[in-house]
Amino acid sequence: MADYKVTVGNVEMLALTDGQGDMQPLDVFADSSMEQWQSEYPELLDGDLIHPRFGTTAVRSDGKLIIVDTGLQAPDGALMDDMRARGIDAAAVDLVVLTHLHPDHIGWNLTDGSPTFPNARYLATKADWDYWTSPAVIDDADHIKQQALPLRDLNLIDLIEGEYRITDELTTVDTPGHTPGHISIVVSSAGERGFILGDVAHSPAQAHYTDWSPGFDVDPNLSRQTRHAVLDRLENEGALVSAGHFPGNGFGRFTREGSRRVWQGI
Ligand SMILES: [Zn+2]
Repeated sequence: MADYKVTVGNVEMLALTDGQGDMQPLDVFADSSMEQWQSEYPELLDGDLIHPRFGTTAVRSDGKLIIVDTGLQAPDGALMDDMRARGIDAAAVDLVVLTHLHPDHIGWNLTDGSPTFPNARYLATKADWDYWTSPAVIDDADHIKQQALPLRDLNLIDLIEGEYRITDELTTVDTPGHTPGHISIVVSSAGERGFILGDVAHSPAQAHYTDWSPGFDVDPNLSRQTRHAVLDRLENEGALVSAGHFPGNGFGRFTREGSRRVWQGI
């Protein structure tokens, strides 16, 4: 099992997992073929299914404990058990940063209507908040009613725009397309670079097939442009990436083998 804890300079990143999905790869990536999965990515297949992980990254930076995304919770979310197993106390969390407001990223914001992280403030982007709370969208978005709106009523959420400095070592960057206000997090400390990807990519296969946009992107073309730009940058920088939907603990780097960009998990 890959290590669940890595460092980027003075920053510590810990991988936490709420569970995993069972999905047909062609339902997720309509541009892919089963032959490609079977011949090029047999390690990602389980029969004819792929299992995207529902991952959370815990970050220690500047004396703060920060949780990036809060999993799906239902029906059997394991995030709280995983946190306990790693010695992370929900009450010690200072900040919850939400890369976007999909159900598998905000599921543990609240538990039975109370904040799961009782001493934390929550951060989301104004662009995602405005999209998900618009009348045409929120009618079908029960997860927003259950896991986002109460945070506003409790005055626990701050809406951010542009590059936002979370700590001296962590800065948000706009990576739109998957959702309108999707963000990732740049980690920069003591000359080392890290990156918390969010849903810029959902599968290691997108290292090479960077054009593949999942069916649940709000704007697949913008998501594709964003993914190309971000993965090019991460490959050039050699940044240590935390990818919430990738297998194992989701830590690795985008590197090159000949003409092919690959994901190298650590
Ligand atoms: Zn997701």
